Amino acid sequence: MTGRLTIVGLGPGAAAMITAEVQTTLAEATDVVGYIPYVARIAPREGLAFHPSDNRVEMDRARHALDLAQAGRRVVVVSSGDPGVFAMASAVFEAMAAMPDPDSVQVTVLPGITAMLAAAAALGAPLGHDFCAINLSDNLKPWNLIERRLTLAVEADFAMAFYNPRSANRPEGFGRVLDLLRGICAPNRLISFAQAVSMPDQRLVTVTLAEALPEMADMRTVVILGSSATRRVGPYVYTPRSAG
Ligand code: SAH
Repeated sequence: MTGRLTIVGLGPGAAAMITAEVQTTLAEATDVVGYIPYVARIAPREGLAFHPSDNRVEMDRARHALDLAQAGRRVVVVSSGDPGVFAMASAVFEAMAAMPDPDSVQVTVLPGITAMLAAAAALGAPLGHDFCAINLSDNLKPWNLIERRLTLAVEADFAMAFYNPRSANRPEGFGRVLDLLRGICAPNRLISFAQAVSMPDQRLVTVTLAEALPEMADMRTVVILGSSATRRVGPYVYTPRSAG
């Protein structure tokens, strides 16, 4: 039997930002696997089993989802935002690559609206020219790699979206990031803090790099650093279509 596993993105939070194909897939699922708060976003119904797990067990969760699919269940793995952006899709493919019979499961990935795109839309158009996304968590990579990528991205004058900027486990890191950026960017460079985007308590703050404080970010914030061309018009932040 070929199992079926669908990896979906639930978007940044608002129900209206869940795509129609993800809603259909969830309506047909028998099992939902994912990090506790994401699984909690799915309405319970008859015949749907929930398998919530802790944040730090991604690979176990991926293997569990593959096992369920191999047993003939219609399994949906949920991520917030997009499942391919610092989320479960890669973990499932890593677990699949370690299976003796990877062809025994049919995997489909359905995209979602990732935090940086929802945040950019709420702010205006700060990602309107070339940009990159960097995960500031050093759980899965060494800190010096984060610093190297930040330095090179500033040199290339990308706008940047920072995911996982700050958590209770890593209170110091984001202050170090701001110090590094202040050393290599002009003090009037714009930086936006988009918290709980699309949710009732959404909060958007844009300041200059000189004014930025580590406390402006938490785990529900995506931070957008403008390029040298990013500017304001009224309440909006945008990066012009042409650079240089
Ligand atoms: N797969 C997710 C990202 C997971 S990493 C996506 O595509 O969006 C988790 C990080 O995403 C958070 O620390 C935060 O930086 C960002 N994030 C997720 N949802 C958010 C929201 N509604 N508002 C602001 N940032 C969010």
